[in-house]
Amino acid sequence: MPDTVFNFDNSYARELPGCYVAWPPAPVEAPRLLFLNRELALELRLELAATAESTLAAIFSGNALPEGATPIAQAYAGHQFGNFSPQLGDGRALLIGEVIDRHGCRRDLAFKGSGRTPFSRNGDGKAAVGPMLREVLIGEAMHALGIPTTRALAVIATGEAVYRETTLPGAQLTRVAASHIRVGTFEYFAARDEREHVRRLADYAIARHDPDLCGAEDRYAQWLRAVAERQAALLAQWMNVGFIHGVMNTDNMSIAGETIDFGPCAFMEAYHPGTVFSSIDESGRYAYGNQPGIAQWNLARLAEAILPLLADGEDAAVEVATDILSGFGASYRRHWLAGVRAKLGLQAPGAPTAADDEADAALAGDWLALLQAGQADYTLAWRRLADAAEGRPDAVRELFADTPALDAWLARWQARAAAVPAAQRTQAMRRVNPRIIPRNHRVEEALDAASSAGDLRPFEALLQAIRRPCDDDPALARYAEPAPGGYTDGYRTFCGT
Ligand code: AMP
Ligand code: MG
Repeated sequence: MPDTVFNFDNSYARELPGCYVAWPPAPVEAPRLLFLNRELALELRLELAATAESTLAAIFSGNALPEGATPIAQAYAGHQFGNFSPQLGDGRALLIGEVIDRHGCRRDLAFKGSGRTPFSRNGDGKAAVGPMLREVLIGEAMHALGIPTTRALAVIATGEAVYRETTLPGAQLTRVAASHIRVGTFEYFAARDEREHVRRLADYAIARHDPDLCGAEDRYAQWLRAVAERQAALLAQWMNVGFIHGVMNTDNMSIAGETIDFGPCAFMEAYHPGTVFSSIDESGRYAYGNQPGIAQWNLARLAEAILPLLADGEDAAVEVATDILSGFGASYRRHWLAGVRAKLGLQAPGAPTAADDEADAALAGDWLALLQAGQADYTLAWRRLADAAEGRPDAVRELFADTPALDAWLARWQARAAAVPAAQRTQAMRRVNPRIIPRNHRVEEALDAASSAGDLRPFEALLQAIRRPCDDDPALARYAEPAPGGYTDGYRTFCGT
């Protein structure tokens, strides 16, 4: 590509032979650019400004790979809904290379929907327009909410049909990630007893994501602790914004701590910890309230996979792993409490005491119990607390039938919050309690228009709105409203595979 420079530096392909299969993307019939994330391209130092749209379509379809790309299908395994699948891998994805972004961080560029690979099993290797644009919306929303996430760089329509329950227009996504190393990547080599690969992969992951640990004698244990800490922080952020990943299999958990592979994910509307939207999650394994526990379970699978690296002798290694994993609950709780404290406007000057922690956790817990009993909209209720902090409790009261219980709680909360001046408090609250999340009915409306009628306008308007999650602009009001009554009860999401 003459006017398009990516400056690839592909360390995974270079340093980890045996962990992937070199594989080209399938040619695409009639690629057409549907979405390009120009802001992200700048962050990645990709020179695309002067590139013609037809060239962009050729690049992001894989028809004309940029110089330096080395497409590979990564090997991984995974526990899916609790059951181990020894061989998954990139069945419809390819890592095409890595670039160093403006901040000096190494980022993966990967295709999704780029055709069959040796890991495709019975799949067609393809993806459809709706699910790929969905990935754009959710990734950009998470990013705007300050939550670590993979992001979409581009989506092209392939011009080909994809066959699912119905015939759908095909698409290919280009995804950007801190890396695509999953818990399942370690499980793949551990299950085959390829210990040297496990070690090389761990050394690679440490050098890439936790370079401070390089050379430390107990670096693998410290690394496991760092991975667990990132997951605890991530899960707290998910929970505090009402995000339900939907398919937290170990192959969908990134050791870099980013939200990844959010196929059937959705945001909570009326608060209930048992909320599940995914059509395939029949037992509710990945229900909203189960997510922190599942993260810990997944980390236990990672610990098992790297056990021989943790200490000499199995007993000693199990002890190290148990110590790290048993700290997850407290770590998660610390992150969660810091998050809800900010959401409640309770960031008083000075460090909170243990008694403060207990009181604030109880206050937050009682608030959530009120939301659950009142089936209040999670996002709106938090957002409207800021109005209550300014002495206007009516908007939040509107969301509840049992106002005496709410009023009693509001009085308790106000008493606790009195330490922080109201103006400062409400501004801070509005920065952490979003007004706009990708509401399920708006997402579906946008994807439906794009997929069935080729009309991208609702998608683009929604994208603009979710990029301003805390903005009070009245023009965005339609994106702040919950779904019409009954919509959410019957709402189901699909993997889009
Ligand atoms: P996911 O549920 O998307 O996280 O994917 C789980 C596994 O199934 C991964 O190994 C994917 O590469 C593979 N997979 C999902 N969809 C397809 C498809 N259409 N063709 C081939 N492989 C797929
Ligand atoms: Mg996956």
